[in-house]
Amino acid sequence: MKGKVYLIGAGPGDYGLITLKGMQLIETAEVLVYDRLINENLIYRTPAHCEKIYVGKQAANHAMPQDRINETLYQKALEGKNVVRLKGGDPYVFGRGGEEGIYLVERGIDVEVVPGITSSIAGPCYAGIPVTHRDWASSFHVFTGNFKDEVRGLNFENIASLEGTLVFLMGFGNLSYITKGLIGAGKDASTPVAVISSATTRRQKTAVGTLADIEKVVEEQQLKPPAISLVGDVVRCREYLNFFENRGKKSVLILRDARQSDIFAKKLIQADFDPVVCPIIEIEQREASPELLAAVKGVADYSWIVFTSPNGVKSFFELYRKSGGDLRALGHVRFAVIGKATGEILSEIGFKPDFIPEKQVSDALAEGLKPLLGAEDRVMVPRSAIANNRLIDILEEICPVDDIKIYDTRIRTENESHLRALLANDEIDYVPFTSASTVEGLVRALNGDIECLKKVKTVAIGPITEKKMLKLGITPDLRAADHSLEGVIEAMKGESESNDD
Ligand code: SAH
Repeated sequence: MKGKVYLIGAGPGDYGLITLKGMQLIETAEVLVYDRLINENLIYRTPAHCEKIYVGKQAANHAMPQDRINETLYQKALEGKNVVRLKGGDPYVFGRGGEEGIYLVERGIDVEVVPGITSSIAGPCYAGIPVTHRDWASSFHVFTGNFKDEVRGLNFENIASLEGTLVFLMGFGNLSYITKGLIGAGKDASTPVAVISSATTRRQKTAVGTLADIEKVVEEQQLKPPAISLVGDVVRCREYLNFFENRGKKSVLILRDARQSDIFAKKLIQADFDPVVCPIIEIEQREASPELLAAVKGVADYSWIVFTSPNGVKSFFELYRKSGGDLRALGHVRFAVIGKATGEILSEIGFKPDFIPEKQVSDALAEGLKPLLGAEDRVMVPRSAIANNRLIDILEEICPVDDIKIYDTRIRTENESHLRALLANDEIDYVPFTSASTVEGLVRALNGDIECLKKVKTVAIGPITEKKMLKLGITPDLRAADHSLEGVIEAMKGESESNDD
């Protein structure tokens, strides 16, 4: 059977500016074909087995030619794959989405298109400029400023006669041609102009001037492409509406598994931080082998289950369902968990934890659980393959304990360049470590070169994580009093507020 190609608009850069539909399709993609300027965090949202094909330009290299992109999409669809073609902004706004779509449909491939938020509107918006406003502009017009492929240049006579806002994409290198052309065709040289570079990202910079002087301002402020140039009186609104550049938010790097980063990102947004995702570990549930399924299904023979992480709960119940297990068989089982978040996930499944130690560390769980156990008890600990044995050793002093390894933690060293770029470009204010494995992941991904962490504030969620940090040469700048994501956020909030005094 032939596959299908989804042409999806990824939005202008800000991770949150993709449609829900686009995100759902990315999360089920078998092949992802993507361009430059796509937020990397979207790429992390693809399933682990998804084949990722980059077709954009790399610094000195050239992009994959359009006919090869078309051919790649076609071949992957012929293989029966579910292909996501992810494009910056909207696929049909100077995005060649039309060309790719027609090529595929002509060859009998099913195509579906998901629009995206185009940079031509979102860029001005994030610079505090509404493209229309009843007092200033009743239309807006979007042009390409790149004429390499065009036979004709811009018709400045026509353009200068338009009353609305003028937006130019791909025009950074041709700014002088555009401003001179407009002035030459009679547009007032004092018309306001804004040039917005890397719009909607943390690197966004906006230069404001007039048709007469904008070039000089852009040069002074050292703006770089990609950039949008906008001409029109609406630029005046920026004085009031520049919410994004004025937000003064601190950014926080999230290193945990991509699928778990959402929960942390949401909490950070609520607390007025900017989350930046660069997953350095990946949680992989172990293959549901007959042995593992049998071990999990045997859980009804235990009197206690100990969960040490939200992952443990999720992976365990997924395996239990696969094993054909029935929740009613667990009526007599008691649950001990480490951490509020673990308890919450367990409660969502429908089991109230029987024991949560005050301190969210495994020693506290072991010591607190010990008096509740007798020699007749049996304890199952479904958890990560990399966890240490201390917890098991302590509980085994009382009764039999089975350590069931249900998931692996893989270190994503392939994210090194993204990580280095984030840390080197001063894009990050805080690096919280929410587990010992994120510490190990980061240090390994950086090849032990932790110099770049000097510029950021590191945060330890708890004593085990801190111990790992110290061992690998990182002294935490902040420590969470409560060993939870909330505790980490509290620590950062306390610090950033005291900085303002
Ligand atoms: N389909 C895209 C546009 C592709 S053309 C969209 O709808 O946004 C590429 C041009 O878009 C760049 O040369 C630049 O002018 C503009 N652009 C895209 N993303 C941008 C961003 N984040 N900041 C500024 N300009 C951007």
